[in-house]
Amino acid sequence: MKKLTILGSTGSIGVSTLDIVAAHRDRFEVVALTGGNNLELLTSQIETFSPKIAAVISEESARKLRKSLKGAKTEILHGIPGMIAAATAAESDMVVSAIVGAAGLVPTVAAIKAGKDMALANKETLVTAGRIIMDMVREQGVRLYPVDSEHSAIFQSLEGHRKEDLKRIVLTASGGPFYRYPVAKLAGVSISDALNHPNWSMGKKITIDSATMMNKGLEVIEARWLFDVPVERISVVIHPQSIIHSMVEYLDGCVMAQMGVPDMKAPIAYALTCPERVPTGVRGLNLTEVGSLTFFEPDNGRFPALALAYRAVNDGESMPAVMNAANEVAVEAFLQGRIRFTEIAAVIEKTMDAHQPHVLNSVEEVLNTDRWGRAKAKELIGL
Ligand code: NAD
Ligand code: MG
Repeated sequence: MKKLTILGSTGSIGVSTLDIVAAHRDRFEVVALTGGNNLELLTSQIETFSPKIAAVISEESARKLRKSLKGAKTEILHGIPGMIAAATAAESDMVVSAIVGAAGLVPTVAAIKAGKDMALANKETLVTAGRIIMDMVREQGVRLYPVDSEHSAIFQSLEGHRKEDLKRIVLTASGGPFYRYPVAKLAGVSISDALNHPNWSMGKKITIDSATMMNKGLEVIEARWLFDVPVERISVVIHPQSIIHSMVEYLDGCVMAQMGVPDMKAPIAYALTCPERVPTGVRGLNLTEVGSLTFFEPDNGRFPALALAYRAVNDGESMPAVMNAANEVAVEAFLQGRIRFTEIAAVIEKTMDAHQPHVLNSVEEVLNTDRWGRAKAKELIGL
């Protein structure tokens, strides 16, 4: 029986994770859940999975949750201490880190320090604090399994091969809704156009990141740390069908790729059960139905955010954290109708231009850098 904590259980990844748990009740037990504002869903998850602990962001939400649960045995906690208590619950063997954004960093760090194996969906953790996290993972001797579909694909393509023989990593990207849209019209796209992802159903923030391709920029940095490969050896190719989830090339010219229909349940399940595989309900791949797989070079003029991610890594250690903070602020401002789609990358770039990169020595320094980046981006937007 594997005992799980799911941080961000009410989100897109959290819900898919619980679908897998529900389909394999003989394998998994839920020890703790955390959610944000979706109390109705969290209530029904608590009723179904009876965790020992559930944590929400605010005290008021905790009060409401206790009321709606009427006498359930689950201990209801709140705030960052509540998230940390869930992340470190003594009974859990593995923590699924699926909070969105830099808010996932502190509970993820707490879980690693408590010696938990990790199924990591929260890519912002590695973007903002990659070296610190990977050092911590090594020190604690915990296992870190990628949930992100590209990184799961790379992880699977590396299995059974020698790391010394790896030449480069190729991340695939769907290109989102705008990879063929007239560049001159991008400034005028609506929020619903940008949320209309062709292949994946995900939370709003990552869906906008996919439309700007900042998501792929974040993933390049995530791959850099997960697989210890410099960004010069990580490239991105647009593959609109999202069938090949990523690939690795070896010194002899052989390329290993992992394929499947785009459904996060497959990489989530593999992170939970690796090296075993379990049925996920994901449809098998019918290549004759797909017909053709196509590939394009990403266009930097259309997707300036992708180039900013490479720049951030080369600028210095604190820059990816600043880039990530500015992106979170800009995406939120776009979703609130305060800035245009094309201003997202512009705000990020200006925030980065205003930052003097430095080495990050602790999680506290990462959090300070994140705060600085948020404040600067807000100032630039006029919030
Ligand atoms: P989502 O917005 O659907 O869910 C986010 C979860 O985090 C929710 O449970 C929400 O209540 C919680 N949350 C939000 N703000 C919080 C805060 N301040 N404190 C505590 N909890 C908070 O997001 P998602 O799409 O499930 O993505 C989660 C993470 O997984 C992101 O880092 C994303 O980049 C990554 N990821 C997602 C997908 C996907 O298909 N959705 C794929 C790959 C990677
Ligand atoms: Mg991905």
